[in-house]
Amino acid sequence: MLLWLRNDLRTHDNPALHYFLNHKKSEDVGKAIFFVSKTQWRQHHWSEIKIDFILRHAYSLIKELARIGIKLDIVHVDTFKQQTKYIKEYCQQHAISEVVANAELEYNEQQRDTALIEQGVNLTLFESDVIVPKGKILTKSNTMFKVYTPFKRAWLKYLLSNGFEYLGKIQARENITATTKNNSDIDINNSPSKHWPLADEFEQEVLTQFINHKHKYYKEKRDIPSIKGTSGISPYLAAGVISPRYVLRLLLNHWPDLLLASDSENFCWLNEIIWREFYRNLLFHHPALSKHQCFKAKYQQVRWPNNPKHFEAWKQGRTGYPIIDAAMRQLNTTGWMHNRLRMLTASFLTKHLLIDWRWGEQYFMQQLIDGDLAANNGGWQWSASTGCDAQPYFRVFNPIRQSEKFDPYGKFIRIYLPELNAVPDKEIHFPHKYLEKHQLDIYWPAIVEHGTARVEAIAFYQSIERNDKGNI
Ligand SMILES: Cc1cc2nc3c(=O)[nH]c(=O)nc-3n(C[C@H](O)[C@H](O)[C@H](O)COP(=O)(O)OP(=O)(O)OC[C@H]3O[C@@H](n4cnc5c(N)ncnc54)[C@H](O)[C@@H]3O)c2cc1C
Repeated sequence: MLLWLRNDLRTHDNPALHYFLNHKKSEDVGKAIFFVSKTQWRQHHWSEIKIDFILRHAYSLIKELARIGIKLDIVHVDTFKQQTKYIKEYCQQHAISEVVANAELEYNEQQRDTALIEQGVNLTLFESDVIVPKGKILTKSNTMFKVYTPFKRAWLKYLLSNGFEYLGKIQARENITATTKNNSDIDINNSPSKHWPLADEFEQEVLTQFINHKHKYYKEKRDIPSIKGTSGISPYLAAGVISPRYVLRLLLNHWPDLLLASDSENFCWLNEIIWREFYRNLLFHHPALSKHQCFKAKYQQVRWPNNPKHFEAWKQGRTGYPIIDAAMRQLNTTGWMHNRLRMLTASFLTKHLLIDWRWGEQYFMQQLIDGDLAANNGGWQWSASTGCDAQPYFRVFNPIRQSEKFDPYGKFIRIYLPELNAVPDKEIHFPHKYLEKHQLDIYWPAIVEHGTARVEAIAFYQSIERNDKGNI
């Protein structure tokens, strides 16, 4: 038997690993494999920081798996096609009768697994990326919910009736010599993801701290980008190095009745974890979302104006709207962006600049440490109003009002736009008049005027809605 690790580099609550340990025959060598496929990953627009974060976890798992008698080989092949070839040949050479792995949700990954099965490899797949198995939460007519709130209600009902399986941590059994060959790629001092601890340390320190002390203030502080009011767990969930079922276990250990308290403030963080489940179900039921399709078909043929100069200004944080520019610089310099700012920058790109949401989706993927197709696509299509349970098309965030509301003293803006340090709080959200008055040439002019852009965006979207009605 061979264990094939993919988006599940963990010993904690890993269904494929559990099956492997319980079913491998005594004569089987305890062998696991992980492929580094940078060409394929780059085709999927994975950022360097995400790749680095995954590699750090892969190499640290060599020792951890050795403690439970498994030898992990990290194999470099360029593409999924080469992965299938390698597995097939490996099984033939070593007379392997079964390969076990946790399934991956995305389209190319599914195609790869199907191809392997069709070529005769006995691949047993488990599910490790969600709390409630995907496909279980359905409407009365057995379809996927198109609105989040009823999905959430049904999700909670399912959990209350069925519970969930949690496999816990695996204890050390036998020690084999861990090989560290191949890990020359990782120099932690130069590692782009060095500010993010490995999952074990994150679980013990950051997550525990969050649950014990910050969770109760989450609702109040989650929208303020200048403070660390959110958990920071997204890179770990996206890379599969922390299990979502472990997260729920942790929450229920603290608040045993949480599933019954969906109206309480305490529920707010779990609500976000359920959004994650919603988007994963959406991709499960609508695989075309992996292939750049708009969820709302009427938007599929839209020709977005797509001004390349505006796109460049947005990417570089030079729009002349401080909250947008600071947010984009946070993304470009740290590989992470606060959720409120993801909403604002995505809205700005799609509505103020009328640029195709797919351009933004791809750019986010190329920068984010937590880049995740389901959540990123969900977030972008929500913002562009092309998605499932999306923002209404006529809702256009005002970047100045949003900045006044969520960064009233410009604390966040000043971190990433230090050139605006001297601008008074009241003026910092749109400093152009102030800068002109004081003859300070230190910031870019606004690339669009909010009022005009808003009117144009609504007219543009209205024309799509009208054409759609005409087609019925
Ligand atoms: C345009 C856009 C793009 C996004 N791209 C991604 C992405 O590539 N990867 C990603 O993990 N999240 C993405 N999100 C969702 C969200 O912004 C991040 O999950 C969150 O900011 C991560 O920070 P945190 O872990 O501190 O979140 P917390 O507030 O602590 O939330 C806990 C967890 O809940 C989940 N979650 C929270 N909000 C959402 C949401 N809106 N949709 C789905 N799951 C959510 C995440 O797994 C998150 O880690 C995107 C949102 C938008 C609007």
